[in-house]
Amino acid sequence: MDLMKLFDGYVRNYHTFQLNYAHGYTAAASSERKYFTQLGSMLGYQPLTADDSERSKRPMDLAWWDQYDAERKVWKELVLHLEKEKTSRKSEATLEKLFADTPGCQPQYAIGIFQVRKKERIDELLQAAQRMCKLKDALLIIRLKNVEVYAYLLSESAVIQSKKACIADIAGTLYMYFEDEHSNGKTGELKRFYHDDEAYAAWCRENEAAYVYNYFGGSDGQADMNKIHRANCSRLWRKSDEGKRTTAYEKVCAANLDALKSFVIGERGSSWSYCKKCMQVEKTKATETSTETPAETPEGVDDVENQQSFQVAT
Ligand SMILES: [Zn+2]
Repeated sequence: MDLMKLFDGYVRNYHTFQLNYAHGYTAAASSERKYFTQLGSMLGYQPLTADDSERSKRPMDLAWWDQYDAERKVWKELVLHLEKEKTSRKSEATLEKLFADTPGCQPQYAIGIFQVRKKERIDELLQAAQRMCKLKDALLIIRLKNVEVYAYLLSESAVIQSKKACIADIAGTLYMYFEDEHSNGKTGELKRFYHDDEAYAAWCRENEAAYVYNYFGGSDGQADMNKIHRANCSRLWRKSDEGKRTTAYEKVCAANLDALKSFVIGERGSSWSYCKKCMQVEKTKATETSTETPAETPEGVDDVENQQSFQVAT
């Protein structure tokens, strides 16, 4: 079994969990448990969760068993041990559980799913796992807030493969995706303009319904300076910015909002925002902490004003 393929499937099916930024860890964990339980069953194994495998000498969040012994009424072969841990400081203890040496009850495969708030913790956990892992096949899935997910395939102490996926809110549902797959034209091409006001203005004239990211950069605290606008937003076309629309900051444009968001999240994590003027409906989805429901703005309300003020410098 290729554990990294299980990660691919987990990433591609993540949206079926129907989670959004308002969901806490419990909802995510319960969907994950259901997903891996069903997956084990579909692959032909017997999944047992912590609730129904109490007789096992090895405590496990979820296990996949094989080789049923009808006479003794037990499953003989432990295929997979899966552990989930939401609390960062308990992660090492959970790794110990996952990689425990239980004579007569060693899994063939192990998967640990963790959640951290700081990027540095990812390295710490990976190193701890490398120290403890005696299995030939183990997968570490580490989610960094609701922004990115890292996967590491371990063979004993060696990391033999790693992958990174991103998380994005698309129309109120959290999706996971691989960045390289997302930007290969399937979801829209990015146009970048730097020191080229003329080409930028021409592109925006052609693509009025497109989106523009004002790539200010800066620190994590400068979400307000890194905004996504509609291409025809009057704030992008102020007379006072004439001649320096793409010289002060690069403009990254896309006809497809999801493609542009993927780029922005990849560059900035959650430190960016929607323009309050032209992206009214979208703006509350931009921050992970927000639990408000976006207010519905009647279509066209902003547009009227924007069309009037949409003056492209020539
Ligand atoms: Zn705007």
